Amino acid sequence: MITVLALVGNPNCGKTTMFNNLTGSDQYVGNWPGVTVAKKGGMLLNHPDCEVVDLPGIYSLSPYTLEEVVTRDFLVYEHPSVIINIVDASNLERNLYLTTQLLELEIPVVLALNMMDVVEANGDEIDIERLSRELKCMVVPIAAINGYGLGELINVALAVAKEKSTNQGLPIFSDTEEISVRGIERLLPDRESTQLKRWLAIKIFERDNKVIEQIKISNNLLERMNALRRRCEVAEDDDAESIVINARYRYITNTLRSCIKKKLKTGELSASDKIDSIVTNRLLAFPIFFFIMWAVYYIAIQTLGSMSVNGMEKIFGTFSDYLTQLMELGGVSLTIQSLVVNGVVGGVGAVLGFVPQITILFVFLSFLEDCGYMSRAAFIMDRAFRQFGLSGKSFIPMLVGTGCSVPGIMATMTIENEKDRRLTIMLTPFIPCSAKMPVFVLFAASLFPDKSWVGPSMYFWGIIMVVVSGIILKRTAPFAGETAPFVMEMPAYHMPGLKTVLKHTWEQVKSFILKAGTIVFAASVLVWFLQSFNTSLDLVSPTESMLANIGQFLAPVFVPQGFGNWQAAFAALTGFLAKEAIVSTFAILAGSGGDAGSKADLVLKLQSMFTPASAYAFMIFTLLAAPCCAAVGAIRSEMGSWKWTFFAVGYQTGVAYILAAIIYQVGSIIQ
Ligand code: GDP
Ligand code: MG
Repeated sequence: MITVLALVGNPNCGKTTMFNNLTGSDQYVGNWPGVTVAKKGGMLLNHPDCEVVDLPGIYSLSPYTLEEVVTRDFLVYEHPSVIINIVDASNLERNLYLTTQLLELEIPVVLALNMMDVVEANGDEIDIERLSRELKCMVVPIAAINGYGLGELINVALAVAKEKSTNQGLPIFSDTEEISVRGIERLLPDRESTQLKRWLAIKIFERDNKVIEQIKISNNLLERMNALRRRCEVAEDDDAESIVINARYRYITNTLRSCIKKKLKTGELSASDKIDSIVTNRLLAFPIFFFIMWAVYYIAIQTLGSMSVNGMEKIFGTFSDYLTQLMELGGVSLTIQSLVVNGVVGGVGAVLGFVPQITILFVFLSFLEDCGYMSRAAFIMDRAFRQFGLSGKSFIPMLVGTGCSVPGIMATMTIENEKDRRLTIMLTPFIPCSAKMPVFVLFAASLFPDKSWVGPSMYFWGIIMVVVSGIILKRTAPFAGETAPFVMEMPAYHMPGLKTVLKHTWEQVKSFILKAGTIVFAASVLVWFLQSFNTSLDLVSPTESMLANIGQFLAPVFVPQGFGNWQAAFAALTGFLAKEAIVSTFAILAGSGGDAGSKADLVLKLQSMFTPASAYAFMIFTLLAAPCCAAVGAIRSEMGSWKWTFFAVGYQTGVAYILAAIIYQVGSIIQ
């Protein structure tokens, strides 16, 4: 028999950190809610007969959100051996709300008081024994982040699993309430008597329609249950759902009064609160957000980033010289030499040259996320998004999308409202992903060497277009409607762990390198082929090649944007394969014959092809136009329909086309 330990808790209380610690896996630890939507299983280290399941974070067992449904179904239908209820000990009032419900499930519960390091740092004291007595379940203090207490927790959980002693529900109800709930419990038919009768009774009392549908009881019985509920509602002059919520909080407040000694008097502000009073201040929040993001992109694109790229450039230059010599010695044909040096090393190498910037960018972004600032960013954006009817919940996919739009688009899964979800899927690709970065860095360095605002401005154009699109689209029938409230807890600020930051960064850098080695590689070979041959497969100069033919066919389309030449038009097209391929295409075009174009060649090439106005228009087009085919695939699978996928891609490309044209026209006048 396998013992199953289910990790259950609020979003952001440390479930995944603990899961990784217990199973030795590498799941994504995100410092915002909604990161874990599906459940994940893993074997407990050193316990081959014991499985740990990481469940999505939830605030209650009501069936309103996808996370709640996934977690609740798992608990009720798959009946794990033990629930490890992880709570953020620095925020017990909120976290225990779920605990009171878990204790009604007739599954053994062990309470893991996580973040004890934070509690200690705050100078608070929790009377563990007393809490355990009050809640009638085992309580173990831990700190998942450094592993403190986890051994003890596992011992306790396994012992509890062996005993199979279930918890009693807590005496949360007043006498009037208890009479009604117990009355409903007695009316439940016998087949339900083996399990969860108390839980079912409370759910029916609350008018949980999912449960009421599932138990299929006769109308007569249902009428009698309704009468019991009504009696209580009349007596307390409140609706049943609020009655239960109040009962739970009342019980928690009373319990905690005797178990917790807080250092701060109520009303006093913690360090986190003090930082928040500035960072989320109505007037300062946006300027601070703007400044931080500007600084991050400025440092990654314009300063440290370009320094490190020059180093990479030398390495690749030396590498391709070496390769050329080697191939000359081996008598390799000039065509193959050109393919290897100009096509593959030139194309892929140009993209890999941006690894330092990507690394620096994600060190910063991971730091901001893990210290807790990005949760504030979502909160701040909630205010802006609310103006046009989206919630801050839509900003979370966009935060994820700064790495890659694909996981960003998949993160929209947690948005319940169908219309809002569609809109978020459409707008998430506007936020620059890591693949677009090389294009921005290259263009900023080539055409705007002394304009520090150009690189960072792309991030803000992304946000501006999300907001503008939201305002416009929310007024149209397919998207109009109420927005669900967005409740999100702010994790206390903390110094991020070096390991967490490096791991996040590595995840991003790894997939960037992987893409360079696969899809960018394939695109480079294709581009090299198209620019080396004509349609009768004769080796020709680039201007007579197939690539030139295709480019010339497309070029007229981009005249209003100022880049109506065959090279730029073709490069824009390769962006649909992968945005990095735009850079590799320019690199291949800049090189010629058997030569990998050096960075200086590439810069000169771009300077000859673009004016500042058309270059900025090209950047805008790259930022906003239909994302790469991988992201379009993600849009298709999340939208569940081709119609919506075409609409999304058409909208994105249309916006990109129009804005790029406006920018070029206005920019040319100013110039
Ligand atoms: P989940 O949403 O419940 O899966 O939570 P995560 O495991 O993703 O963790 C959320 C945040 O809490 C991350 O920033 C973790 O680094 C942090 N965290 C987790 N456990 C602890 C802990 O014991 N102490 C502190 N200070 N932070 C923790
Ligand atoms: Mg998680």
